[in-house]
Amino acid sequence: RRLLSTASLTARIDVPTLGAIDIPTGLHIDGQWLAGRGEAFSTVNPATGEKLVEVAHASAEDVDDAVKAARRAFKTTWGMNVAATERARLINRLADLLERDAHRIAAVESLNAGKGIRIAREADVADSVACLRYYAGMADKIHGQTTDAFGGDKLALTLHQPIGVCGQIIPWNYPLQMWAWKVGPALAAGCTVVMKPSELTPLTALMMNALAAEAELPAGVLNTVPGFGASTGDAIARHMDIDKVAFTGSVPTGKRISVAAAESNLKKVTLELGGKSPMLVFSSADTDEAAQWTANGIWYNSGQDCCASSRVLVQANVFDRYVNELRKRALTVAIGAPSDERTSFGPLISESQRDKVLGYITSAKEEGARIVSGGRAWPQSKGFYVEPTILANSASKDLRAGREEIFGPVVVVTPFRDEEHALELANDSPYGLAAAVFTTDMRQAIRVARGLDAGSVWVNQYGAVHNNVPFGGFKQSGIGRELGTYGLESYLQVKAVHVNLGVEASWPI
Ligand code: NAD
Repeated sequence: RRLLSTASLTARIDVPTLGAIDIPTGLHIDGQWLAGRGEAFSTVNPATGEKLVEVAHASAEDVDDAVKAARRAFKTTWGMNVAATERARLINRLADLLERDAHRIAAVESLNAGKGIRIAREADVADSVACLRYYAGMADKIHGQTTDAFGGDKLALTLHQPIGVCGQIIPWNYPLQMWAWKVGPALAAGCTVVMKPSELTPLTALMMNALAAEAELPAGVLNTVPGFGASTGDAIARHMDIDKVAFTGSVPTGKRISVAAAESNLKKVTLELGGKSPMLVFSSADTDEAAQWTANGIWYNSGQDCCASSRVLVQANVFDRYVNELRKRALTVAIGAPSDERTSFGPLISESQRDKVLGYITSAKEEGARIVSGGRAWPQSKGFYVEPTILANSASKDLRAGREEIFGPVVVVTPFRDEEHALELANDSPYGLAAAVFTTDMRQAIRVARGLDAGSVWVNQYGAVHNNVPFGGFKQSGIGRELGTYGLESYLQVKAVHVNLGVEASWPI
């Protein structure tokens, strides 16, 4: 086993505005930084296409070491062996350290994921701090129930116990936030963690593990195993001693993980998957305001958002007005270098993601859509940028770009006749993550909200996600919920305890 000192598993990178900083690039298992048994891989700056650093790659054997460490910690220093208030204290300490290092971590997130630095700091990091604090606050509020409805002879109670060792596999679009959404509730519940960040954005998860060590989280409670899906991720999904796997990513990968989990030890599975979220704009709505929410919904994070407002359905008599308003916003999106405080729209994560997005635009044109705005790679950079793009589908064609998740800054706008038609179009999708309705008729808003197949519905707004409100998908957009009390419950299992207060065993039965 190659056991290296922290110093030799650190890389120095140049971060805009901060200068050279050292970041961890190894595996973190049982409180130690280790080299991976797999072949190290490079992570890239998507705004330039240049390599940032090499990161250790965890093999299946490394994953096994991490699981053993997590199991040991679960049985000794964590799980049901530590007071919930102590778990809360340590999670709060981790949140404080993240807040202390907000600038450093935001800068690395911006560099590795291509996010505007201000957004990385004020949204990604700030929300992750808040998420950790939210779950720290819940750690000592986990309660079971009691019932003494048995006439005095018996008492029954429930214990809400941590599930155990959890594998967590996260994507590249919100590397730090997805980390916090997973690690916060798992640690609060008393679970131990084997975390695999995306191979495209592994850096902030590693920095967080360094902060967890500084917070004095016991060794083995949080282990980080960077690597690829087919190697490291699959080893997690198939491991016989992982009790639960929590995954955020694409539908095909979610299905693969479900199968691997079922074929191994039938570990519990929660999945947050993709979407093709419809936004319904009725003629009574304020079309300017609706266009503004669409712009936020589709161009935030350059459209790499599972809830992106990628499918807008507009009542026919306000279609042109709405499209015109949206176009004005497309032309003023703050596209630029992630290191610029003014940038809100950065590059896509990779060359292949950019090419995939451009392919959808080409196919939409061939299928008869009109490009209202954008439609090209942004010519001013050699990074992986695609312009904010609006496709008008005035003839209501069944476009591939209107059906499939693009995960880029491309919105398809289609007209509808009436409420029934709008709901029919909205629900004609294998996805069911989110949806929105814009109308001034509140009865209509509630009626439509009830009828939409979606785990989140926004009324006269778009994209609101809060730590204390559950988030997750209907249909193929997922299984289970994250955030809120529901997010904590998915790391707990319920045990019924029957206490005999005077029942005599009867025999023969
Ligand atoms: P992806 O499915 O390719 O990868 C996600 C993670 O899974 C990565 O860490 C990857 O290494 C790992 N992985 C890949 N193959 C695996 C396998 N066979 N076994 C185990 N792990 C494997 O997704 P992505 O491209 O990183 O992310 C984009 C997708 O994530 C989009 O479809 C998007 O909608 C979805 N997403 C959903 C949510 C949500 O909360 N619903 C949030 C963010 C992203």
